[in-house]
Amino acid sequence: MRRLHQFKGGVVLKGHKKDSTLMPTQPARLPASLVLPLKQHIGSAAEPVVAVGDKVLKGQLIARAGDTISAPLHAPSSGTIRAIANHPVPHPSGLPAPCIFIDSDGEERWRPRQHQIFNFAELRPLELREIIRDAGIVGLGGAGFPAWVKLDPEGREVDTLILNGAECEPYITCDEMLLRERALEVLAGLLMMRHAVQAKHCIIAIENNKPKAVRALAEEIRNTGADVEVVEVPTIYPTGSEKQLIQILTGKEVPSGGLPIDIGMVCHNVGTAYAVYRAVELDQPLISRYVTIAGSVAHARNLEVLIGTPLGNLIEQCGGNRQTLQRVIVGGPMMGVAVHTDAVPAIKTTNCVLVESAMHDVPLPSRDAFSLPCIRCGQCADACPINLLPQQLYWYARAQNYDRVQDYHLFDCIECGCCDYVCPSQIPLVSYYRHAKGKIWEQEEEKRRADRARQRHQFHELRLAREKKERAARHKKKRTPVAKGGDDKKAAIEAAMARVRAKKAAQEVPPKNTTDLTPAQQAKIDAVDAERAKARQATETTPADEET
Ligand code: SF4
Ligand code: SF4
Repeated sequence: MRRLHQFKGGVVLKGHKKDSTLMPTQPARLPASLVLPLKQHIGSAAEPVVAVGDKVLKGQLIARAGDTISAPLHAPSSGTIRAIANHPVPHPSGLPAPCIFIDSDGEERWRPRQHQIFNFAELRPLELREIIRDAGIVGLGGAGFPAWVKLDPEGREVDTLILNGAECEPYITCDEMLLRERALEVLAGLLMMRHAVQAKHCIIAIENNKPKAVRALAEEIRNTGADVEVVEVPTIYPTGSEKQLIQILTGKEVPSGGLPIDIGMVCHNVGTAYAVYRAVELDQPLISRYVTIAGSVAHARNLEVLIGTPLGNLIEQCGGNRQTLQRVIVGGPMMGVAVHTDAVPAIKTTNCVLVESAMHDVPLPSRDAFSLPCIRCGQCADACPINLLPQQLYWYARAQNYDRVQDYHLFDCIECGCCDYVCPSQIPLVSYYRHAKGKIWEQEEEKRRADRARQRHQFHELRLAREKKERAARHKKKRTPVAKGGDDKKAAIEAAMARVRAKKAAQEVPPKNTTDLTPAQQAKIDAVDAERAKARQATETTPADEET
């Protein structure tokens, strides 16, 4: 029997889970049109590989991963690409984002199978991670972090792989129903993930208010003899938060700003394990998931929903009246996001659609503007499971002092909403934190953009300088042969002159028969020369000389 630990803070909430667990999960109806946002995960958006008018098959790749931290998208059904355009998505900003629209043909024709794996244990961990990556699997617990990245310990030892089935938020029952109905597949997915990270131990954690899920799992573990421990954890919110769950199970705290792998832990949602099983065993990418439809609907239940199905279709299928809707929340009442229209599609991280109408008021933490001033009662700090000071965060977030708000560890806040829930002044604290986080990310993005622009400018300047240098070198090179030619020319002239001098010297042949003369001959010559000199002197005499 494992000894459990406690975390500070947290709140006890009413579950509201019974209604949606009365009926078995059913496949959601195929909508006429599916809307696939390109960004359904943490990281960069996927990049379309299809064009308007293309025919696609179920499971076919329609957008590839945009970066290392990203995830590809696959067609949830066969049909035609109608558009690639902006559309409202389930995001706190309420802003539209790029989506691929598929008009379904109703035939549900699958793409050809791409792999057949008979024994996953024979694959290398890297090969398993690649299958998980290519299947577009992200964390289905809500965070949406690409699963294969979390399954890569990068050489670090993984002591324990934890499968999170705590599901502590009110109304949400998709994980519970998945465990009740697909325990064997979840277990198989867990063993595949264990192989991918080479973990020594495996734990499946389930809140102690889900006995049927615990029984279903325990039976499959018995039948298969898998070395996996099922642990029931206390029903207190937010037990299902990764860091709190690790603390409860092991007594270890993930350091501020750190990751579970820093203390030898890896934590995944049960839905992610099911998706891994389908990808490895059945060669099916992540194109559907379990979603709870609860609140103001006639038949609260879980549906197996194709990614991209508009929420309005799901609400209608569960007997909701779309005309009387007051609010639709994607997620639970504590951490969910209210959307402006039910045309928003279910995405990979959509675990619950909570419908609120005049007939059914969902007891939410304070989210409205009717709040009173902070009275510094400190109840928010007592409830905070991360040991933060929510009121200080609130002051600085409200004052838009984004440096100070980070000094108070804003980014350690898991947005659990416990502070909201207990605040007697009904201050929508989490909204302030989300806004502040969004602003800080915006500023950082702006800074990154400016840095990139500066780097581009510097690169441009460097390129210009290099080109200038290269031009100068080219000119110099051109000039150099001229100078060299000049030298050659000079040398050639000198050589020619030398040749002329030599020739001339050769031509200055001494007069013939002037050697070996007898004295008489010499005397005659001298006399002739004297005569000549005299004659020359006479001819050279100028008129001026004569006048003189
Ligand atoms: S609980 Fe509300 S009123 Fe009390 S200190 Fe926190 S923010 Fe202020
Ligand atoms: S929302 Fe953030 S600040 Fe508030 S209780 Fe949860 S972790 Fe603490």
